[in-house]
Amino acid sequence: MVLEAGPEVGGRARTLDVGGEPVDRGFQSLFTAYPATSRMLRDIGIRKRDLIAFDRGAVVHDGTRWSRMGTSVRGTLGFEWFSAADTARLARLGAEVAAVPSGALLAGTERGLDTHEYLVSKGFSDQAIAGFFRPLFGVITADPGLHSDAAYFRFLMKMLLRGRAVVPVAGHGMIASWAAAAVEQRGGQVRCRARVSEIVTDEDDRGQAVGVRVDGEVIRARTVVVATEAPAARALLADLDRQTARALDLRPRGVTTLVYSLRTSLYAGRTIILNGAPDDGLAGAGRDGEHGRAPRIDLVCQESNLLRPGMGDGARLLATSVHGDADAPDPDVLAAGMETLASTWNRGFPWAEVAELVDVVVHPWAQFAVPPGVREDLPDAGTGVDNVFLAGDVTMHPSVEGAVGSGERAARVVQGYLARHPSGGA
Ligand SMILES: Cc1cc2nc3c(=O)[nH]c(=O)nc-3n(C[C@H](O)[C@H](O)[C@H](O)COP(=O)(O)OP(=O)(O)OC[C@H]3O[C@@H](n4cnc5c(N)ncnc54)[C@H](O)[C@@H]3O)c2cc1C
Repeated sequence: MVLEAGPEVGGRARTLDVGGEPVDRGFQSLFTAYPATSRMLRDIGIRKRDLIAFDRGAVVHDGTRWSRMGTSVRGTLGFEWFSAADTARLARLGAEVAAVPSGALLAGTERGLDTHEYLVSKGFSDQAIAGFFRPLFGVITADPGLHSDAAYFRFLMKMLLRGRAVVPVAGHGMIASWAAAAVEQRGGQVRCRARVSEIVTDEDDRGQAVGVRVDGEVIRARTVVVATEAPAARALLADLDRQTARALDLRPRGVTTLVYSLRTSLYAGRTIILNGAPDDGLAGAGRDGEHGRAPRIDLVCQESNLLRPGMGDGARLLATSVHGDADAPDPDVLAAGMETLASTWNRGFPWAEVAELVDVVVHPWAQFAVPPGVREDLPDAGTGVDNVFLAGDVTMHPSVEGAVGSGERAARVVQGYLARHPSGGA
C-alpha cells in the first residue's frame, strides 16, 4: 500500500495540465543511461518511443553571444568556446568516465574533492569552468557553486555521454502515474491525500512497527518503508531512530520555476537555453555564497517544443531559478529577469504581449546538497527498527536515479526481511 500525502503521486516529478498540454512542475530531464530507472521504465511499460529526446547538448548565452555545447557521435562532450587544451582535457575525462561502471564512479576516491576543485585539479581553465561546467552542472545539480562531490559529478558526466536526455511524452508525472497503475495491477493499493503522521510501534514486541497512523486511523503493516523528502523522513523517524534521523539533517537545494504560456514561440528546437552570463552576486559573495547570489533565471526550456511540436504557434515555457538554501526569490523579480532575457536573446520579441505567467512552482527541497563527505554518511535501507526501512533519493543521491535505485534496494531488503519472518504480524 502506497500512502501519499499529496493529491496525486509523483512528488517532485509531477506534471501540470496547461490548456490540455503537459508541462512539468519544474524543468527536469531523465538520462536514458540511468540504470535502475531504465529497468523500472521497462517494468511499468514505458517504452523508448514514449521518451522524447532533447537534441544532443544545449545552447548557452553569456549575455552577448550564443554558443552550443554538444556531444559528438563518439560520445564526447564539446563546447565551441573551448581552447584546444580544454577540449583535450574534456575528451580525456569523457574517455575516463566511459570506462568505469556507474557504481564504481559513485564510490570513487574523487568523493573527497568538490566538483570545482576537481576541475581545477584536472587543469580546466577558468573560462571552461565558468562558460561550460558552471551553467550546465550548476543547473543539473542545483548547485551553481559546483560544490557537489566530484565522484557524483563523474557519474553525471557518464550519464550525459552514454545516453540521451529525455522527457516522457506526457511529462515526468507519467512515470509515477504508470508506476501507480503497475502497483494496482499487481494487487497493491495507492491512496492519495493520506499523510502519515506517525509510525506506530508495539513496545511489547521489541519496539517493532505495527503500522502507521493516517488521520487518526492506524493502518497495520508488517513492514514500513519511509520514502519521503529529508525533512518528512526525519520527522517520522525522530522518536524511533535518532541516529538515522540525524543522518537526514541535510542542506536543501531549492529551485523556483515560472511556468509560462506563450502565444508566440520564443525559440525553435528541442533544446534548453542556459543562462551563462557572469553571476555578479556569486562573484561578489565568493563561491560559497548562494545567499549573496542575485535572483536570476538559470535555464529556459520550451517544453512544448519537445512534447507537442507543431501544435499551433504557441508554446509552454519553463524558466528555472536555482537558489540553493537561500529563500525562494520574489517571483516578480524573476519574471522581470525572464522578460529581460527574452529581449536579449530574441531582439524585438514582444514578450509582454505574448507571455502569460500561469504558475510559480517553488521546490525548497528540489535536491539536497552533496558536498564531499555527505553521500558517505547517508543512511541506507535499514533503520534501527527491524521492520522499518528507508528509500528515496535521500538515501543515495539527489536524482530520479537515486530515488528509483533506492527503491530497488529497499524492495530487496524488505523481501529478505519477509523471507526471514514468513508469518509475522498483520
Ligand atoms: C525542479 C526540479 C528539477 C529536477 N531536475 C532533475 C533532473 O533533471 N534529473 C534528475 O534525475 N533529478 C532531478 N530532480 C530531482 C528528482 O526530482 C528527485 O531526486 C526525485 O524526484 C526524488 O524522488 P523521491 O521519491 O525520493 O522523493 P519525492 O519526489 O519528494 O517524493 C516524496 C513523496 O513523499 C510524500 N510525503 C512526504 N511526507 C509524507 C507523509 N508524512 N506521508 C505520506 N506521504 C508523504 C510527498 O508528498 C512526496 O510525494 C529535480 C527536482 C526538482 C524539484
